[in-house]
Amino acid sequence: MSGSREGAGEPVAARAPGRWRRTGDGLAAAASGLIDLMLPLRCAGCARPGTAWCGGCARELGGLRKVVRALPVPSGSAAVPPVFALGRYRGAARRAVVSYKAAGRRDLADPFGVAIADGLAGLLQWGPSSSGRAAFGAETVPDLDPAGTWHLVPAPSRAITSRRRGGAHMTRVAGRAAAVLAERGRAAVVADCLVSGAGARDSVGLDPAERLRNLAGRVSVLPRRAPPAGAPVLLIDDVLTTGATAMSSAHVLARHGVPVTAVLVLTATSG
Ligand SMILES: [Zn+2]
Repeated sequence: MSGSREGAGEPVAARAPGRWRRTGDGLAAAASGLIDLMLPLRCAGCARPGTAWCGGCARELGGLRKVVRALPVPSGSAAVPPVFALGRYRGAARRAVVSYKAAGRRDLADPFGVAIADGLAGLLQWGPSSSGRAAFGAETVPDLDPAGTWHLVPAPSRAITSRRRGGAHMTRVAGRAAAVLAERGRAAVVADCLVSGAGARDSVGLDPAERLRNLAGRVSVLPRRAPPAGAPVLLIDDVLTTGATAMSSAHVLARHGVPVTAVLVLTATSG
């Protein structure tokens, strides 16, 4: 773990994993913590008691696959990075993602981070024997340097949305994933360098064209938090729908001189 640059490499969710962790400031976080104490622990996917995320539901996020989608590429954009998902945005996986983002289930950052770490490690094995590669061809293999320090870049979320959720939710997941990778001997840090500006609305309910217009020019890079040039850069998000967020983020990072090696999302919609 490199702590040499401010903002990068901070294992946000790694200090004290578990549901009792104090994770934010302010009333909302305190209220959420109280709710955690009052409600019995249940699986976010199937409501099984006694676990945050059961083994059966975890398998819904165990199938690394390439996502082929007509991504909305901004004019003058650099190459489109390959996009991978761990599961479909339906059933238990969808319920868990929604619970994490909207219902205060911040404890899910831990299993989601493990799933992302497993998925990133899986990208290295994305070889000729992979059924996904056989289907899509060699050009889908991400050019991921196993020896480099992987920089995990969380997708941006609006500041106001992050506050309501008690902290930037994908930063928490990326932090846990980086910590898991580091425990396994792979150099990985978080580069929490993307912000979406005040002009961007929350994207819930927008159609693809509206979503792209909403994001165009509104995702920006914080230079002092950006990965160094030449580093393997992995963009992390929870849901891929139209791909507008991923493309806008990849576009601004490429313009900043740090092209995205691959995008990995927890879930992708089927369309
Ligand atoms: Zn379950």
